[in-house]
Amino acid sequence: MTADLRFDQLRLPPECETLRAEVRAFIAQEIAAGIFDPLRVGHGEASCAAFSRRVGAKGWIGMTWPKKYGGHERSFLERFVVTEEFRVANAPVRLHFVADRQSGPILLKYAPEHIKMDILPRICRGEVCFAIGMSEPGSGSDLFAAKTKATKTKGGFLVNGTKIWTSNAHAADYMIGLFRTSPPARENRRHGLTQFLVDMKTRGVGINPIYQMSGLHDFNEVVFEDAFMPDDHVLGEIDGAWKQATSELAYERSGPERFLETFYVLVELVRVLGPRPDLRSAEGVGRLVAQLHTLRRMSLSVAGMLQAGREPVVEGSIVKDLGTIWEQKLPARARELAAFVAPEATNRVAFDAHLAVATMIAPKLTIQGGTTEVLRGIIARGLGLR
Ligand SMILES: Cc1cc2nc3c(=O)[nH]c(=O)nc-3n(C[C@H](O)[C@H](O)[C@H](O)COP(=O)(O)OP(=O)(O)OC[C@H]3O[C@@H](n4cnc5c(N)ncnc54)[C@H](O)[C@@H]3O)c2cc1C
Repeated sequence: MTADLRFDQLRLPPECETLRAEVRAFIAQEIAAGIFDPLRVGHGEASCAAFSRRVGAKGWIGMTWPKKYGGHERSFLERFVVTEEFRVANAPVRLHFVADRQSGPILLKYAPEHIKMDILPRICRGEVCFAIGMSEPGSGSDLFAAKTKATKTKGGFLVNGTKIWTSNAHAADYMIGLFRTSPPARENRRHGLTQFLVDMKTRGVGINPIYQMSGLHDFNEVVFEDAFMPDDHVLGEIDGAWKQATSELAYERSGPERFLETFYVLVELVRVLGPRPDLRSAEGVGRLVAQLHTLRRMSLSVAGMLQAGREPVVEGSIVKDLGTIWEQKLPARARELAAFVAPEATNRVAFDAHLAVATMIAPKLTIQGGTTEVLRGIIARGLGLR
């Protein structure tokens, strides 16, 4: 790796602000029509099939992909704006978001042409939901310890093993699964894993729900028992998935969704403190906003690097590390700042309800998509420190 680390200064070009106005108008219409409520208590990245299809019809899924596959050949910066607006509005993007963010780009790079022509346009229309099948019991941070095995058979592979923490598997049409096709090599323990496109309707794929302490059903255990994967569902190089996985992580880790998951707490904090907060509260809110602004500039900078065709794995990891710590600490900081607001004050009940939800989901924020410690290992290596 290289010690060359930089976050270029970047401002959104005027076309992005035009797009932002369009997205805001669309969101306002959806809210007015009762499709979703941005202040709903119990945020859990809700799903709404009809909403995803309307977002697809607007051209806001697969925005950066080639038109040939249903994409729109727009920029990563434009995609940034759409992601940001949907996230702060708590829009129900869950069904299409993973496919848009990372599964589609993997298919674009590694799937055979007929699969690209089949699936990518459907993703762009908001019709397809993807899950990520990487973690296993005993193999989370250390992805390369994955044991779920794909054994060669006539015309394909038979998969046996268990994936865990698979977000949205119960709603997904497909998963991108990471399976062991060979033992690790002595000189390279990362060798021997292959990415597959898994049709979730395949016989032998079983899904068991795992409930979070907030009561939400978000992730699952996925069990494979002699599940058949045809040869053309191999994505990229057999045994060489480790070379592919890093670029996926740059997409997964750097977007505005990595620091905005508890953003609604900041909005509610400003409301509950009212138009004339005391000096201490005003200073606290100012500090939070300044930190958020910095994170946003960094994330935007990574979007610019993706646009330039780079793979900003280290910069993306830094955004995720700082961003998830910020969004995790936000509920506790907000509680302190609102400590002296009277229970009967306007907006206090709403603030407390949102705070309770954010407090319960906060622990997961620094685990999903790579833990803080693991990210710091990647950053240290990227800086030449280990
Ligand atoms: C809400 C949520 C959604 C998720 N969705 C998905 C999904 O859709 N698909 C999927 O595949 N996975 C998913 N995950 C799993 C997630 O990627 C893993 O939980 C994560 O990678 C950590 O793995 P682990 O749970 O096995 O913990 P471990 O890897 O066992 O880690 C335990 C602790 O040890 C530390 N640690 C581990 N290795 C090192 C090291 N080398 N150096 C220093 N410290 C280390 C970790 O930081 C952590 O604190 C999700 C997790 C959450 C919380």
